Amino acid sequence: MKRDNRKIALIGTGMVGMSYAYALLNQSVCDELVLIDVNRERAVGEAMDLNHGLAFSGSSMKIYAGSYRDCTDADIAVICAGVAQKPGESRLNLLKRNMTVFQSIVDPITASGFNGIFLVATNPVDVMTHITCAISGFNPRRVLGTGTALDTARLRYLLGEYLRVDPRNVHAYVIGEHGDTEFVPWSQAMVATKSVSALCDESHGSVCAGDLEKISEEVRTAAYKIIEAKNATYYGIGMAMTRITKAILGDEHSVLTVSAMLRGEYGQNGVFVGVPCIINQNGIQRVLTLDLNDEELKKLDQSCQTLKRCYEELDD
Ligand code: NAD
Repeated sequence: MKRDNRKIALIGTGMVGMSYAYALLNQSVCDELVLIDVNRERAVGEAMDLNHGLAFSGSSMKIYAGSYRDCTDADIAVICAGVAQKPGESRLNLLKRNMTVFQSIVDPITASGFNGIFLVATNPVDVMTHITCAISGFNPRRVLGTGTALDTARLRYLLGEYLRVDPRNVHAYVIGEHGDTEFVPWSQAMVATKSVSALCDESHGSVCAGDLEKISEEVRTAAYKIIEAKNATYYGIGMAMTRITKAILGDEHSVLTVSAMLRGEYGQNGVFVGVPCIINQNGIQRVLTLDLNDEELKKLDQSCQTLKRCYEELDD
């Protein structure tokens, strides 16, 4: 009997990469996981460490430190490699250095004959996803970034707590840049099929717009707070990446807020930004266009303009 071998190539075995790998193992998401890092010793050590947990996992994953040649038959190439900001370094300079890093990663992946889907987590994730698409020459529907998937999970958690509803029954999204210009289109937020604004109207003041704005501010600033407390964020993003991976490998057609190239949707063109998309085995099956109001469309436009400027600055 032929059995499909679900294979993931993970590039960057730092905190984010390994939180993702750990979640993959615990959720038995794939059959083969190859770890690649410029620091090969680290990748070898991480593979050993994970392999030693196999006996307790109920999974029979094949895990090893490999090279870009191993990407040939991978279903997904996941990139969370990057260099950290040096003291006093400008955002643009950091971006240029990460672009060089991506060149050294994406070129050998495509040269290996890789014909799968790229998933990018390195920050600034929307711009790094755009860069991956440009270097690889892949169809943009096969190149996606984690976008606002984690921000959306944070929103659902906080909104669930506030409304005392299971977050799985909260349908609300954070969209736009994964960063300062992201926002919540409240006109589209629902609990089951009831709009949050109707809940506000009926609540006699116990649910109010001011509290909702505080929640979206908390989502926007969550990463800063975690970094202040523990220097980096990795578990949440690792789980968000695992969720996206499951949607791809399982051909789920699930709606997730990933960074996707807009080609006319929301009146935008040629920019990668976090929006709800239907994800299946081919990557982005379709970008969902929400019925945003004028104010929300303006906010999304501001976010897209910020990202476009950032990408264009790289040419200067
Ligand atoms: P880290 O420093 O722990 O790991 C980075 C890894 O990349 C290291 O192992 C390093 O050796 C490797 N690397 C560097 N240059 C490389 C190259 N040329 N080829 C192969 N590997 C190379 O960093 P981290 O905490 O794991 O974060 C990784 C990235 O994820 C950062 O850009 C971070 O900002 C981002 N991040 C994104 C989100 C999100 O929501 N998208 C959330 C958290 C972190």
